[in-house]
Amino acid sequence: MDFNFFMPTKVFTGAHAIADHVSEIALGKHALIVTGKNSARVSGALGDVTEALDKAGIGYTVYDRVTENPPVEMCHAGGAIAREVGADFVIGIGGGSAIDTAKAIAAYAVCPDAAPADIFDVKLSASGMLPIVAVPTTAGTGSEANPYSVLTMPGGIQKKTFKPIPGGYPRVAFVDPRYTYSLNEDYTVSTALDAFSHALESFLSPKSNESSEMHALFAARQIWDVLFRGADSEGETDAGGFTPVQRERLSLAALAAGIAINKTGTGFPHPLGYSITLADGIPHGRACGAFAGAYIVYNMRTALGERKLMRFAAYLGTSPGEMARRIPMKADVKLSFTHEEIDTHVNNIALSGSMTNSPYLLSHEEIIMIYSTLFGEQH
Ligand code: NAP
Ligand code: FE
Repeated sequence: MDFNFFMPTKVFTGAHAIADHVSEIALGKHALIVTGKNSARVSGALGDVTEALDKAGIGYTVYDRVTENPPVEMCHAGGAIAREVGADFVIGIGGGSAIDTAKAIAAYAVCPDAAPADIFDVKLSASGMLPIVAVPTTAGTGSEANPYSVLTMPGGIQKKTFKPIPGGYPRVAFVDPRYTYSLNEDYTVSTALDAFSHALESFLSPKSNESSEMHALFAARQIWDVLFRGADSEGETDAGGFTPVQRERLSLAALAAGIAINKTGTGFPHPLGYSITLADGIPHGRACGAFAGAYIVYNMRTALGERKLMRFAAYLGTSPGEMARRIPMKADVKLSFTHEEIDTHVNNIALSGSMTNSPYLLSHEEIIMIYSTLFGEQH
C-alpha cells in the first residue's frame, strides 16, 4: 500500500477561522491582497482579513483587478505592483481565479526581468516566491491546498498550469464556509461540479494512492449527497439556496478534492473543458461536468477503470451509469457547433499531462466524437 503524502499548507477550517488564528496570517510586514472586483468584499472575507492584519500591525495594499480565468498578463502586472508597494507576502481572497492569481503574482514579484510567459520557466518557479495565504470564497478548485495556478495564455485560447513546488502551496489557508454564503446557486453548482471532477479524475488516475483515494471519496460523497440527494437541506438557506451544513460539506469537499489532486493531477475532462470555458464562456466546473459522462463511459471500457468506478460509485450509493447521466445533466451545458467549430475547439485543447492521466487513453478521433455527440449541430 502507498500512503505517501505531501501537502505543506497549514489549513484552518470552520467559522471564524481567521479571527481564531490571527497570528497565522502574519507572514510578513506588508501584504498584497489579491481579489476580484466584488467577492472578497461581499463574502465578508476581506473585512476579516484586514481586521486580522490591523490587529497584527501588518500593512497591506489591495489589488482587486483579478478577472475570471486569469490571463498571465494581468498576473504579471500584479507582480510589478507587489514590488512597487514592497509586499513581502501575498493573500489571495476569492475563488480559484483570485487564489491562482495570487500564486502567479508571488512568483512574478521576485522576478523583475521575467516576461509574462516566462512563468512556466522552471528556473523562475524555483527562484523562491513570496509566501501565500489563501482564503477561498468558493467551494470548488481546492487551490488553497495545492500548488497549481491555472492561467490563460496570451491570445486567450489556451490555459496552462503553473505548478511551482513547494512555493505554489499556500503557507496558510483559512477555509471558512461562511464566505461561500453569498455565492449564487449557479456558481455554487458549477464550483461543486469542479470539486467533484477533481475527486473523480483523481480517483481514476493511475497515479492515485490510498491517501489521495481517501480524500477523493470523502469529497465526492459530500458533493453527491448535497447536490444530487438534497441532504441537509432542512432549515434556513442563504442567497444561493443552501443551508450552513450544506455549505460546510461543500467547502470541506473542495478542500479534500484539492488535496487529492496534489498526488494525481486531473484527467481529460479538465483540458476538454478549458476550450468551452475560454471560447464559449462556460464556467469551469460546468465545463468539466459536461465531459464527465464521456469520461465515465470510456473508462468503463478498461478493467482498471471499471473496477475503480464501481468502487467510487458504491461509496456514493450510486452506479457509474447514474453518475454518467446525472453529472452532465446538472452541468447543463447547451452549445451547438458546426464541424469546423468542433475542429477549432479540439485543436485548441492544450496537450497537457491531464489528457493521458486516466486508464482510458482517448484518440484524436474520439475527442472529436465526444464534442460531436455533446455539441454537434443535430443536438
Ligand atoms: P472564480 O473564477 O474564482 O469566480 C467566479 C465568480 O464568482 C467571479 O465572478 C467571482 O467574483 C464570484 N465569486 C466568488 N466567490 C464569491 C462569493 N463568495 N460570493 C459572490 N460571488 C463570488 O471561480 P472558481 O470556480 O472558484 O475558479 C475558477 C478558476 O480556477 C478557473 O480559472 C480554473 O481554471 C481554476 N482552477 C484552479 C484549480 C487549482 O487547483 N488551482 C483547480 C480547478 C480550477 P469576483 O470576480 O468579484 O471575485
Ligand atoms: Fe478544476
